[in-house]
Amino acid sequence: MAEIKAVLADAIRAGGSTLRDYKQANGDLGSFQKEFAVYGREGEPCARPGCRGTVRRKTQGGRSTFHCPACQR
Ligand SMILES: [Zn+2]
Repeated sequence: MAEIKAVLADAIRAGGSTLRDYKQANGDLGSFQKEFAVYGREGEPCARPGCRGTVRRKTQGGRSTFHCPACQR
């Protein structure tokens, strides 16, 4: 899991082109990328390229979840 996150971090920094290649081998990556872009980033700008939302944190059942209102509805 840590390795996948590192790959995604590089891909997001690179503007997503690497990520598109990666996605072909893992069709489930879309939602994971969304979660990764906001995880642990409460109050900070969303990490998704082109998104200008601010990350919000929500506590649910003792567990924190992060979301960007601009790209997760
Ligand atoms: Zn966003």
